[in-house]
Amino acid sequence: MTSQRARDRLVALLREEGIRDARVLEVMRTLPRHVFIDEALAPRAYENTALPIGFGQTISQPWVVARMTEALLEFGTPAKVLEIGTGSGYQAAVLARLLPNVYSVERIDELLRQARRRFRALKFENIRTRHDDGMLGWPAEAPFDAIILTAAGEVVPPELLAQLAPGGMVLGPFGPADQQHLLRFRRDAAGTLQQENLGAVSFVPLLAGTR
Ligand code: SAH
Repeated sequence: MTSQRARDRLVALLREEGIRDARVLEVMRTLPRHVFIDEALAPRAYENTALPIGFGQTISQPWVVARMTEALLEFGTPAKVLEIGTGSGYQAAVLARLLPNVYSVERIDELLRQARRRFRALKFENIRTRHDDGMLGWPAEAPFDAIILTAAGEVVPPELLAQLAPGGMVLGPFGPADQQHLLRFRRDAAGTLQQENLGAVSFVPLLAGTR
């Protein structure tokens, strides 16, 4: 149930469900998602569903991870990406297989410690992590070519916009619990922030402060 065949089946489903980017599909075919969840849930690792990771949080649904990764790479490969909400570490790991530098901030220390152990076990050397309130971004490492949020807020935190490189992109779920949408923001040539709605999604909330 954690075999290559299970991953192949998941990738076939993602393709049927509209994921087109061959690079994203290949990473999800090879990266073991079961490593990012509790052993007791490992048999369900290649179902196309979000799963609990403790502390009231979830590892995102594979289709959502694929769609967000695809949306992030659509206009070229960002060299330096900031993720808000490390959680299990799976989304960060997918990104780290596709682009040079991943920075990820998580507010729950225990989740971050587990994610770091997984990154070490899988020998990732291009993921840097930080225990902090991700709404503040990571000022010392700014600017970022792209910022991806994996928890839903009402608006884009202004600190994040301030840490975006020229031409950069912010991607994440926004809106109240029952009507969230995946939004992508990019600055046009005139410097105005343009917003695209990539569809309805369901994420855990973006919360202030650390624990
Ligand atoms: N990318 C993760 C998704 C985890 S769920 C994965 O692939 O597993 C979202 C995560 O965002 C949770 O772990 C939650 O603790 C974290 N989070 C919520 N608000 C946050 C904030 N302000 N700063 C950093 N992390 C936050």
